[in-house]
Amino acid sequence: MTIDPSFTYTLDDLRKRSFPGTSLAVVGYPVRHSISPAMHNAAIADLRQRNDRFRDWTYYRFEIAPETLPEALEVFHRKGFLGLNLTIPHKVDVLQLLKGFSDDARRMGAANTLVWGELGYEGFNTDGYGLEQALSKDLGMAIAGTAIVLLGAGGAARAAAVHCLKAGCSSLWVGNRSQQRLAEMMDAIQSLQSKAPVHGFSLVDARLPDLPASGVLVNATSLGLKESDPLPIDPSRLPAGWSVMDMIYNPTETPLIKASQKAGLRAANGLGMLVFQGVRSLEIWSRETVSDHVMMAAACHSLKLPPRYVDNF
Ligand code: NDP
Repeated sequence: MTIDPSFTYTLDDLRKRSFPGTSLAVVGYPVRHSISPAMHNAAIADLRQRNDRFRDWTYYRFEIAPETLPEALEVFHRKGFLGLNLTIPHKVDVLQLLKGFSDDARRMGAANTLVWGELGYEGFNTDGYGLEQALSKDLGMAIAGTAIVLLGAGGAARAAAVHCLKAGCSSLWVGNRSQQRLAEMMDAIQSLQSKAPVHGFSLVDARLPDLPASGVLVNATSLGLKESDPLPIDPSRLPAGWSVMDMIYNPTETPLIKASQKAGLRAANGLGMLVFQGVRSLEIWSRETVSDHVMMAAACHSLKLPPRYVDNF
């Protein structure tokens, strides 16, 4: 039976088909938009040129509804899928189905990378690593010693907050629309007892707290996915030494990025973060160094971005 890695498979396909060789997959709902298969299969082809043990590795895409995740994981495990990436809405709920997880995944309360083990899958979270690498590559910023403003209190924001505190940010402000979700996130990150001061603020009145002269603002809200979305905050109110990273990568130029650049601030989108979290996942599965450039080129090709995107990376 021929298997097409660019196809979106279902739970029924998983039950009925055989997936020969070493299989990996992204699992989400919906997931048809995911460019992870293109990124990973390109990076696997690159690994294959260096080492023949990757000759039968393939990365698939599976659309799995939340209520069927427990059964799907069991079948993935029985069929020997070496690794899975989890995306919306599975990153949090999957934790209760795992045989173990890394410290990062436990602190973040979410896993985006699973590794097959005899007794079940083990969970990891590579989103924080992806953010740190992207800040360095796209904006020349290190997290250590830097003031961070994080907008959002969902899964991506929580992973970012835990990673920024672990990586030694000098202070952290978290802004969110829902006060209840903000309070829950503040409880979770304050329990980590990091040295850096942590503050929460409301995004409803769109006012920023008093900030030091330099730092980086990270948008982890979903505001900006649509062209018509309002700005989560007005970046022209940031001090001149601040940079802005929007985790959104499609569209590549969100209203926040445009407004930040207009205000004279350095700004980047979330494509680098997406690529680096993927690089780290494949490194965990393959135990080899994975080319960020190859993954970025495949991501740009999928998103139909001009070559300058890859050249500047
Ligand atoms: P969640 O659904 O868990 O969280 C969404 C967040 O957006 C919440 O804080 C929510 O606030 C806020 N929000 C949604 N609508 C509005 C609005 N109208 N006004 C103000 N705030 C709003 O999503 P995730 O945390 O998983 O993802 C957040 C963003 O990060 C998405 O755009 C996603 O695409 C991106 N992302 C990018 C990654 C990358 O690799 N580049 C990786 C992961 C995510 P409230 O609590 O008030 O509802």
